[in-house]
Amino acid sequence: MSPVAPIVIAGAGLAGLSCAYHLKSPSVVFDRELHPGGTARSVSVGGFTFDFTGHLLHLHDPYTRALVRRLLGDNWVECERNAWIHSHGVNTPYPFQANLHGLPRNVVRECVAGVRQARRVFGDRPLDGAGPLHFREWCQRLFGEGISRHFMIPYNEKLWGVPATAMTPEWCGRFVPVPTLAEVEAGARRVHTKRFGYNTTFLYPRRGGIQVLAEAFAKKISALRLGEPIESVDWRKRKICLSSGKPLAYRSLVSTLPLPELLKRLDPFPNDLKGPLESLRWTTVLCVNVGVARPRISGASWTYFPEKKFPFYRVGFPMNFTPHVVPRGCSSMYVEVSYRPGTEPKTPSEKDQLFREIRRGLLAAKILRPDDRFPVIHFAPLRYAYVIYDENRTAALSTIFDWLKRNARTVSIGRYGGWKYSFMEEAIRDGRKAALEWEGI
Ligand SMILES: Cc1cc2nc3c(=O)[nH]c(=O)nc-3n(C[C@H](O)[C@H](O)[C@H](O)COP(=O)(O)OP(=O)(O)OC[C@H]3O[C@@H](n4cnc5c(N)ncnc54)[C@H](O)[C@@H]3O)c2cc1C
Repeated sequence: MSPVAPIVIAGAGLAGLSCAYHLKSPSVVFDRELHPGGTARSVSVGGFTFDFTGHLLHLHDPYTRALVRRLLGDNWVECERNAWIHSHGVNTPYPFQANLHGLPRNVVRECVAGVRQARRVFGDRPLDGAGPLHFREWCQRLFGEGISRHFMIPYNEKLWGVPATAMTPEWCGRFVPVPTLAEVEAGARRVHTKRFGYNTTFLYPRRGGIQVLAEAFAKKISALRLGEPIESVDWRKRKICLSSGKPLAYRSLVSTLPLPELLKRLDPFPNDLKGPLESLRWTTVLCVNVGVARPRISGASWTYFPEKKFPFYRVGFPMNFTPHVVPRGCSSMYVEVSYRPGTEPKTPSEKDQLFREIRRGLLAAKILRPDDRFPVIHFAPLRYAYVIYDENRTAALSTIFDWLKRNARTVSIGRYGGWKYSFMEEAIRDGRKAALEWEGI
């Protein structure tokens, strides 16, 4: 009798690792990389530990919180968010829309007047009965002209790389705090003591960067095959083909690969999925990790940069999460720059040019000093970084997921498998959910 085929898990990021960790049935995980962690991984260079941009653990669910704490043992710290916006030459506390105090007076006046006007026109529940909106309209209804113009639109257009009219606001619910008019007015007069948003505190590994979380999961998983990319999926025979050319039968495939990468590997490629595949859009982020030979260049966790004159949209400071990620007397930064896929700098001279622009911006923002030295400059591209929510996404996903389930006995989960904007906790939950569903729990 031939042995029962395993459940194949494609990808050893947090979603794939969590799925394997929670499954009782035989399973095997494949990843093309030599280390687990996927997007939540770290590198050590010249005594600095860098993530592929900051990866802070925002844990809201008691089960995941307990699991992560168990996996990390005593290797974690809890931090208070200390996030800022740099615009008009000043730093104001995050979120912009609730903390206008400190901006030039004409900007404060314009922003407050904009919210009042929006409330007059659209009422206290500006989204009720509005029907489908694009992101620009959504911002204007909720925040008015001023806040939209000074932060919401320029920041998000920089991050997502598409016009605000080409995005939907579906991703915003959890991520964008919406203060009341009274809160906007109070925040224009003085700094709020109230903390807004989903990420006011977070956990982070004391040592080793976010990589240690994936390593802790990996230790509990017996069938983990790293450095073995999945090349194709013969969905009719229910087999995957590895780079060695070896096929492996699967009972069920749980894929955490970026959705376009899974679809491109379907052999033969189903014509029904051509249109949906072509409609998927995303951004690439180049994370520029910088070691600086000076202590405490900033006290912030991270700072947002909405203005066009800065090439980056956000800069974070890992030494403020834990001092163990930098050599003594040093600081570190992750600088995030967003691109349309394929347009990011690739050659050494393109990267040098980008770094010069970054340095200029950071000098202007008074984060760097002219005589600062950089023992390490490390470029980490994230090819799939942010999934773009547009008018085609929901219908495309429904067709794709339904087809995969019916024809290929495949579920596609995680941030890029599920093709969504989500964070690490959700990847862990997605993996667990897929495992429990398989076991019939
Ligand atoms: C810029 C940025 C900042 C972020 N910051 C935070 C944060 O502060 N806090 C937070 O909670 N979340 C953050 N996230 C989100 C977080 O990274 C993700 O939610 C999470 O890591 C997704 O895990 P995943 O397993 O779904 O996907 P991934 O980690 O992308 O895993 C997919 C895996 O598939 C593998 N793979 C790809 N192709 C193949 C193949 N052919 N064969 C085999 N394996 C393959 C990859 O190597 C990878 O390991 C951030 C994301 C980005 C882009």
